[in-house]
Amino acid sequence: MAGLSYKNKYERYSLTNYKIRYFKRYDVAEDLKKALKTYFGFSKFKVGQEEIVNHLLKRNNLLAVMPTGSGKSLCYQLPALLLNGRTIIVSPLIALMDDQVAYLQSLKLPADKIHSNRTYGENASVWRCFMDGSTKILYISPERLMTRKMLEALGNLPIEMFVVDEAHCISKWGASFRPEYERLSEIQEMFPDAFLSAFTATADNATRQDIVQKLMAGRGRVVLQGFDRPNLSLSVILKNNWKRQLLEVLDGRRDVSGIIYTLSRKDTEIVSDFLNNKGFTTLPYHAGQEGEVRTSSQDRFMTEPGLIMVATIAFGMGIDKPDIRFVVHTSLPGSMEAFYQEIGRAGRDDHAADTILLYGLDDLVKRRRMIEQGAGDDGHKFRENKRLDALLAYCEASGCRKKALLSYFGEETDKCGNCDNCIDPPELFDGTVEAQILLSAITRTGEYFGRVHVVDVILGSSTDKVRKRNHDKLPIFGKGQEQSKEFWMALIRQLFASGDLYIDLVRHGALRITESGRKILSGEKTFRCKKIIAPKSKKRKTETFVPSNHTDLNQDLFNQLKQLRLSLAQEKKVPAFVIFSDRTLIEMAEKKPKTLPDLLLINGVGDKKLDQYGRIFLGSILEHLSQQDSEFIT
Ligand code: ADP
Ligand code: MG
Ligand code: ZN
Repeated sequence: MAGLSYKNKYERYSLTNYKIRYFKRYDVAEDLKKALKTYFGFSKFKVGQEEIVNHLLKRNNLLAVMPTGSGKSLCYQLPALLLNGRTIIVSPLIALMDDQVAYLQSLKLPADKIHSNRTYGENASVWRCFMDGSTKILYISPERLMTRKMLEALGNLPIEMFVVDEAHCISKWGASFRPEYERLSEIQEMFPDAFLSAFTATADNATRQDIVQKLMAGRGRVVLQGFDRPNLSLSVILKNNWKRQLLEVLDGRRDVSGIIYTLSRKDTEIVSDFLNNKGFTTLPYHAGQEGEVRTSSQDRFMTEPGLIMVATIAFGMGIDKPDIRFVVHTSLPGSMEAFYQEIGRAGRDDHAADTILLYGLDDLVKRRRMIEQGAGDDGHKFRENKRLDALLAYCEASGCRKKALLSYFGEETDKCGNCDNCIDPPELFDGTVEAQILLSAITRTGEYFGRVHVVDVILGSSTDKVRKRNHDKLPIFGKGQEQSKEFWMALIRQLFASGDLYIDLVRHGALRITESGRKILSGEKTFRCKKIIAPKSKKRKTETFVPSNHTDLNQDLFNQLKQLRLSLAQEKKVPAFVIFSDRTLIEMAEKKPKTLPDLLLINGVGDKKLDQYGRIFLGSILEHLSQQDSEFIT
């Protein structure tokens, strides 16, 4: 039945008809539109589709690079239906094949699939239908296709077009190289009568050339369709409290569909539980779950309104839900390409949708580690790191994010007016001096430490680690007290993003300075910095802060000395810390000096202070000691 109804339609739009009209150049467009309507029910092409369909009907080798959601499948499915011969479609994921074939079969179109998840009997019967022509479009995995038996069998059939979907998988330059894709380059020689088309959403220039070279021996045209998705808004939030921030982001989004991407499987559960407790409806999704669980989650996501999927990157390929209103990342994605693909799942219905990326430096370190420990040779790792750098630059961009995103894919655009930076542009200032303080702290500590220690040194925090390494003796120690810890952490991020710093994983995440960073240090280069909106230095607070690790501290004596300081300050009408700092008083209460020369050894007691206050503080200490002695005697 299905075959019949298809055949009737097909004959009306068969290529013979089509070709004659095409070359007579009349009404072709009208015919194509009719075919689109008849087969798929759509009344017009999406941007770029018609051009590609026309190329394929002329049997041109072609690589089409089009954004996610732009309707690439239809670009080859429609010609596959209109061409006389048969079409083989190679796709990297079984789930993708299943979805597409189910869709085509629901439209009663003659498509089927052969892959390893089907029984021998199923695959055999599909093959019979493909042989006799009642199935015209065959989806197949690259492994299956490239077996000798399959290739020989295909050699006897009128195969007209090969389609390679997700073609970036063929390229080592690409973000997701699949070794089994590489052999697809043999097709062109084995099937000289067929032509090839390849589709991908993500391919920079090098990847594009690589694909055309491998699949089409360099003879293929490339059709690029803009990467811009004007209905997607872009924003980036610095992560400091994911729970609070996530709730803020999701405020008012209870009734719409969305995806939240997390870094790890465990995180999907944690975030999902947290949100469910807050009254959202969410499901975790990751590759470690049973197939059944995943399928049922997917089904719910596709059908239930207001459901949020909390997922690893395992979720999304082939997900074709038009009304996903937001995509949130709770940590840094793996690359610009991955990020683009993932946000691309939002707003396919062309209505406004939001993308929000929460990121912190911890994520960056984790990502670097994943690359370092992952598969691939040094060249691969180097490229992966570069991709990550590009994403970081996006995160720290001070200009329009759309511009930053598209320029990565080689596309220029005007300000979008729809991203956080366009709506609320960050202020810029000359941060050269601050950058120099930071960089010199890194140099002085041997480029050997992570950011926490470096910032401790700049802020003059006398931690165990600082004292052990004698870093409190460095001239740079405490030179950054004017600014807060948050300020320095933000500056480090910006210096990463601008390529002036990098993380050395061999040295366990030590901060290291690049060539261009050294130029800032030497004054050859200035550093324009995004205004860092962070609480001002909290240094003052330490005036009343008593560190708990001062075991020798005599709390009574300390209080007594503070009391003395207070009365002196009131008398002289000066702030208390002008007389002695807390630190100095703590040290007095610890060491309990008994003479003026002893008192002079205390940090913060110089000749002048000794002259002014020495006797009076010494008196207080001795008084305290004599009281203790007498207590001891009685
Ligand atoms: P891509 O592979 O480029 O990410 P898909 O091929 O999965 O995109 O198509 C995305 C969505 O657009 C699908 O829901 C598809 O049915 C729909 N679509 C494709 N072409 C048209 C069209 N001409 N009119 C309306 N919807 C279309
Ligand atoms: Mg696709
Ligand atoms: Zn913008």
